Amino acid sequence: MKIDGACHCGLIRIEGEADPEQVTICHCTDCQTGTGSAFRVSVPVAGAAFRMTGEPTAYLKTTADSGNPRIQAFCPRCGSPIYSTSPGQHPRPAYTVRVGILRQRDQLAPRRQIWCRSARPWVTEISAIEQSELATVPSLKAQA
Ligand SMILES: [Zn+2]
Ligand SMILES: [Zn+2]
Repeated sequence: MKIDGACHCGLIRIEGEADPEQVTICHCTDCQTGTGSAFRVSVPVAGAAFRMTGEPTAYLKTTADSGNPRIQAFCPRCGSPIYSTSPGQHPRPAYTVRVGILRQRDQLAPRRQIWCRSARPWVTEISAIEQSELATVPSLKAQA
């Protein structure tokens, strides 16, 4: 399917083709640190179909959990993660694009989870955590 999206501030825009069957949750510690969250959701986009406007900042991680050097690209202005890829010149064979920046994210539900050995122990039971439709959680309000 066609995908397109932008970082939070709109400086970086991307488009390409992605297979919804390839959407993956990664629980590795690099993804936890790189997102500031518990896991990352990504989908591969072939380099031949990948288009981008704006120039992301690239950080070369040489000691990734996988053992392979990886380029981490993010917006230099707002910090949104955009993709990771192998070192080299554009276009690279593939870009692992961050699903959270894509307009089609509703249709890109994860199909598999990797690096589960470093998953936060609570992620599998997230539906049991107290929920709110908006920002206020009743139990936190009661403590204030
Ligand atoms: Zn931005
Ligand atoms: Zn990861």
